[in-house]
Amino acid sequence: MLLQMNPALHIRGAIVDEGGHAAPRDLFLHERVLPAAPAHALRVDLEGCTLIPGQINAHDHLELNHYPRSSTREQYTSAHDWGADMNARLNDEPFRSLRAHPLADRLFIGGLKNLFSGATTVAHHNPPHRDLWRRGYPVRVLRRYGWAHSLAFASEAEIRASYQRTPPEQAWFIHLAEGTDARAAAEYGRLKALGCVGANTVLIHGVGLTDDDIADAAPKVRGLVWCPSTNAYLLGATARIAAWAAAGGRWALGSDSRLTADGDLRDEQQAAARTGGLGHAGYDPATLIGMPEAGHLQAGALADCTALRGERVALVILGGVPQFGDTDLMVRYPHIRSIRARLNGHEIRLHPALAHRIDRCTLRYTGLEIDALPSRWQMFSFRLRNRLSSL
Ligand SMILES: [Zn+2]
Repeated sequence: MLLQMNPALHIRGAIVDEGGHAAPRDLFLHERVLPAAPAHALRVDLEGCTLIPGQINAHDHLELNHYPRSSTREQYTSAHDWGADMNARLNDEPFRSLRAHPLADRLFIGGLKNLFSGATTVAHHNPPHRDLWRRGYPVRVLRRYGWAHSLAFASEAEIRASYQRTPPEQAWFIHLAEGTDARAAAEYGRLKALGCVGANTVLIHGVGLTDDDIADAAPKVRGLVWCPSTNAYLLGATARIAAWAAAGGRWALGSDSRLTADGDLRDEQQAAARTGGLGHAGYDPATLIGMPEAGHLQAGALADCTALRGERVALVILGGVPQFGDTDLMVRYPHIRSIRARLNGHEIRLHPALAHRIDRCTLRYTGLEIDALPSRWQMFSFRLRNRLSSL
């Protein structure tokens, strides 16, 4: 531990905004949010910033975020048709080359997308690849969950088996009613007939849910994940989140992957805001995915937060450790030898471990350029000097 000391942080001067309630408040962070300032905490002034909790992205496919947004038709009435079109193109370029990159690198790009948007906790929809929980993955990923792709791309026997093997306290996710056609409107009834509608069921999309479906499902299931920009891109229509909320349903936002979405979770929040949807009751992603320690900044919560300057993400802290941020903010952590970079033309600094992982990745993150990295010996001597000077 000698060379990996991360001091507790005492953050002052910021407005803390949790779910629309904003007030000036000091924040004490180590791996978790602490109730009071611990001895030897590093005091950091974040005056002029608004601090929000690390956001929860309730739906992404983390290995699909290095692909371009793709569609072969102006509009679909069913995402199943889009899926069939995409499957037929997997051996065409650019997909053929992009699929050839190591899985760990493809997953890493998805993690970076989320980190840069301030989404520090993600529910991944696809197999639970081990790399998602390896040291150095950029964000937290929901560990215990069940999932099936959809009624079109999994057999009914597979869907039923997946639901039955998921413990009732864990969320079970499925794409459902992602369409505007009769097939989509029939899917909730089909899922119910399979015995897969219960208190841990999470419906992704739900664009084609009927009035009766909403009345039945909203009070019964764990929740609905709304992905407005993906819905708009593929279907030209989106979930009726106001009706869902009015029926007592819980909901969350999901970015989905870059294959279909505007971009990241902040883009999704903006898409939701454009429809007036962010004000509806029932928004509770932490309960929906089953991570009550995420998505807020009360004592005991995960020490994940984002500092905003206006609408822009200016700093992201994960587990009490700043990961990247504006240059003037990152230099306030003298124990971190951060690395200069530019993200979408904006000067930032990256935590060195993150910068080294980005450097090793076979995929480039669009919009990110990193200056020359210090050698391992330079990193070692910096940490040693820093440690000795703090004794
Ligand atoms: Zn999806």
